[in-house]
Amino acid sequence: MNTVDVAAAIPIPTPVPIPLETPAQPPSRLHTFISWTLGPLYIAAGIGIFMGVHHYMPMSPFMTYIVMNAFVIVMTQVLELVFPYEKSWRKPDDQFFNEIASTFLSATVGHKIGKTIAFACFGWFLTWSRANGGGAAAPWWPTSIPFALQVLLAFVIWEFGLYWNHRFMHGWAWRYHSLHHKLRRLSWINSGYGHPMNFLLTSLFSYTALSFSGAPVDVLIFTGYLSLSINFLSHANIDVKMGYLNLFLNTPELHRWHHVRDPESAGRNYGTQLIIWDLVFGTYYLPKDRLPSRDLGDDTPAPSSYLAQLLAPFRWVQSMSWKPVIPDQRMAFLPARAPERRASPE
Ligand SMILES: [Zn+2]
Ligand SMILES: [Zn+2]
Repeated sequence: MNTVDVAAAIPIPTPVPIPLETPAQPPSRLHTFISWTLGPLYIAAGIGIFMGVHHYMPMSPFMTYIVMNAFVIVMTQVLELVFPYEKSWRKPDDQFFNEIASTFLSATVGHKIGKTIAFACFGWFLTWSRANGGGAAAPWWPTSIPFALQVLLAFVIWEFGLYWNHRFMHGWAWRYHSLHHKLRRLSWINSGYGHPMNFLLTSLFSYTALSFSGAPVDVLIFTGYLSLSINFLSHANIDVKMGYLNLFLNTPELHRWHHVRDPESAGRNYGTQLIIWDLVFGTYYLPKDRLPSRDLGDDTPAPSSYLAQLLAPFRWVQSMSWKPVIPDQRMAFLPARAPERRASPE
């Protein structure tokens, strides 16, 4: 069977664009005021939920994760309803079922397997730490600094794994990540939209980095809690202005640039929760003079059913058509400006 026959045998609809409801008028002063105050309040509320649940609802770490997630989801959903960035993104599109299935099934299963492999292969220290009450650290871990700083340090190391995994996804592993870039709208519900292999590799990279950090288990548990408070932020369809927080966190303002079809922002803002490694490796992108388009997603066709999306990366011919539409993304392992330098005459 030749390639044309195989491609023709798979029903692949072209994605339907969402009609946008972007307001033509500039926002009112009240709207602007709320935009600028809501971002810091969201972060404060996320950390407040984390502190409140930890202090007043003592539970196992697993149940704490579940309860914290529920609080943050309710907060984010309410804000998306009353103060959206793009009104049309509130309406579910034809991928709504897949978004839910992916966020609650693909992401959970993928992360779980990746985390298990990472800890089984590299987490010998964590096993030892747990056996010693969870607070034992590797000799190189700075136990003398305050606990909160240890949590932040672990967060930065964790993000190092997340950052390089995302760059890897935009290169050699694009076929597992491309589904995430077919989103036509952004909402907290689709922050976990993607192929299970995407999430497996994400956890494999990031928990391997954490395993080698030598941080004690107690620190890692709190790092996980801290991450939950901003877990859904980057995709949140809330009209927030994050100001200086854009230099620390992967905010909606930054992550929208990662999803638009724009050659300038292609291969930028790879951060998942923090943005520090984009600043370090030169992939940070947040122009002051323009806003990202609200027309998201690449136009390459994708299967529409959940099962077909699970199988797609393993079908050779189809997955080969899932290349990044913007070539810069394929240069993921080179420095951000490398293609231009290579092209210029010496
Ligand atoms: Zn990406
Ligand atoms: Zn995304």
